Amino acid sequence: MTDSGQRNTAHEAHDDRRAALHEQRLRQIVDQATDAFIVIDAAGCIADVNAHGCQSLGYEREQLLGQPYARLDPLQTPARLAELAAELAAGPQTFETRHHCGDGSELPVEVRLGALDTGDGPCLLAICRDISERRALEAQLRFQSTHDSLTGLPNRNLLEDRLNRAVAHARRRSRLVGVLCLDLIRFKQLVDTLGHTATDELLRQIARRLIGIVRPGDTVSRQAGDTFIIVLDELVAEERASQIAGRLREAVATPLTVAGQEIYPDASIGIAVFPRDGSDCDTLLRHAAAAMQRARRHPRNEPQFYAAAMNTWATERLGLEGKLRRALDGRELMLHYQPQIELSTGRIVGAEALLRWKHPELGMVSPAEFIPLAEETGLILPIGDWVLHTACAQAQAWRAAGLPELRMCVNLSALQFAQPDLATRVAAVLAETGLPATALELVITESVLMRDVEAAAAMIGTLNDMGVQLALDDFGTGYSSLAYLKRFRIHRLKIDRSFVRDITTDPDDAAITLAVIALAHSLRKSVIAEGVETEEQRHFLSERGCDEVQGFYFSRPLPAADLTELLAGRRALANGLAGAETEEPPTVLLVDDDPVFTSFGCSVLRNEACRVLCANSGREALDLLARNRVDVIVSDLVMPEMDGADFLRRTRALYPQACRIMLSGSTSLQSLIDSINEGGIHKFLEKPVTPERLRTTVREALARRTPPAG
Ligand code: C2E
Ligand code: CA
Repeated sequence: MTDSGQRNTAHEAHDDRRAALHEQRLRQIVDQATDAFIVIDAAGCIADVNAHGCQSLGYEREQLLGQPYARLDPLQTPARLAELAAELAAGPQTFETRHHCGDGSELPVEVRLGALDTGDGPCLLAICRDISERRALEAQLRFQSTHDSLTGLPNRNLLEDRLNRAVAHARRRSRLVGVLCLDLIRFKQLVDTLGHTATDELLRQIARRLIGIVRPGDTVSRQAGDTFIIVLDELVAEERASQIAGRLREAVATPLTVAGQEIYPDASIGIAVFPRDGSDCDTLLRHAAAAMQRARRHPRNEPQFYAAAMNTWATERLGLEGKLRRALDGRELMLHYQPQIELSTGRIVGAEALLRWKHPELGMVSPAEFIPLAEETGLILPIGDWVLHTACAQAQAWRAAGLPELRMCVNLSALQFAQPDLATRVAAVLAETGLPATALELVITESVLMRDVEAAAAMIGTLNDMGVQLALDDFGTGYSSLAYLKRFRIHRLKIDRSFVRDITTDPDDAAITLAVIALAHSLRKSVIAEGVETEEQRHFLSERGCDEVQGFYFSRPLPAADLTELLAGRRALANGLAGAETEEPPTVLLVDDDPVFTSFGCSVLRNEACRVLCANSGREALDLLARNRVDVIVSDLVMPEMDGADFLRRTRALYPQACRIMLSGSTSLQSLIDSINEGGIHKFLEKPVTPERLRTTVREALARRTPPAG
């Protein structure tokens, strides 16, 4: 070897050692870093990780090497990583995510992703910073901004949020919300004699007592000083608010010792109830405070409702319990039956038994009023037994008389459904009355199922095995039980009246209804809509494949004798069905508040192979749409009440198959753009329209129509 050769080798050895040292040093730096360094190869697998990374994730290095990075963060699939890598050209990418640690916990991290070229192909370097402290701090700040620091109760901000939500929810479900304003008596005197430290402790203790009284969904919040606001979510009846107010006051009034002093606190409570006393947060709070002032002036400091008339009413209602007890013994309870109609045939296929109370002095008392009370007092159990027996006996009597067979539907309350021996009771009633189990359907609500999913599934299974059918009432009004639905052997879903009411005008209600029908059918369950009051609603439901309907449009709930007449064919339903729908010709709907245009349109389209309907307002048009299958809608943009953009927006959601054409004289570009974007219009016609223009536009639209289903 030459001299220079030897020198070279020595050089190389030196270089290698330096490189090794260099790498070792780098490794040490990286290992001492307090961030996790993870090298991810092109296949999305972990090629390297530093000491801190192993330690913070709770893995040995060997456990991580070669593993897919998605094991730490399932969101970052190889495909996603490839996308991120492509975006790196524009600079490092930063995002927040959670890493799955070895002990099963999750670690919030901020990841800064950069490109790395290590010689064996492009890699990604993820530098991950533990942000759990930052997250905890954020959570703490969030808590502080929404809670009262003294008692830990929600503050005004959170209260308003909760109250708004409760009101929105109650509006949808036709329920009540109670707002109670509770104010301590002589609090200022207490502060003066005991000092702030002691009264702070008093407030904390009182807060704890208040929380102990209300249900988990209710809200207790502290406002300034010694005022507490309590929101009672989903009240079933107003007098329940006064009962809870009574209990809150009792809880406050229990003597306690603070700073060595025995204290006898007391509170005045005012009650406002949504919707009667207000429909927004401010009004309800104001009215509850006003009622509290009245309570303060009351000789015995009794809780007061905002509407003075409620006070006497609530006390009277308390007497109702005794009356209801007697009603059960006397002959004051009876059942009415509401027919259920199959849409495809127009036949009465079922009847729902609905309880009636004919009180000698009060007259007819609605079940909506006394069932909550019967549930609270447990009276619903003997009443429920009576209902089941009477309804089954009646159904069997109809069968024995040779009348068309029908299904008898009986509502069960939560308390009844929770009886462990329910199946035995049902079996006994069926045996006594002779009614086959298959002719009975028990109706329960979603909320009843969700109380104890396991027990409910078992009970439904037992009833099913006997042959009894189950229906789910109020479907769609709450509880995300969709996931559970498959687990319950339910035969039928009932779409709640609150959705049916606005089904032809409110896209949200229509969408929910469609979703329920689709869901039910995909699970091979039948759907019945209740509260059908108009032809528009019937047509809408029928078009969308709903199986059965029930409602005033066909018949109110009837005494047994009247339903006998109907079943025997001696009387007809108020609105029988004309059987299957007849095929309708292609239809165009013209909507304009200006009758000159609608009559112009009619004459222009007279000789076209289509039917023309006219409406002079959005509302009228929605009614026509509900009753008729429409293929093309031509609507003016500027109309009073509901403008064309709003109208077309609704039709887009309600009748997506119809072609929508917007008509306008005012060519405000912005309003046009808005309506195109929101209303999803297909075409725009500028006023004045020539006959030729209207004719060709409508022809083109009709040519594109989707033929009716079936
Ligand atoms: P629900 O189960 O939703 O019963 C349907 C209610 O809607 C009945 O009110 C019925 O008269 C009414 N209805 C039917 N068609 C229409 C319509 O087209 N428009 C309108 N606006 N209402 C319609 P009802 O009879 O006052 O019963 C109220 C609630 O009382 C029932 O609601 C049910 O939850 C309960 N209920 C009635 N009978 C019994 C019973 O025997 N046992 C139990 N546990 N609950 C019962
Ligand atoms: Ca029902």
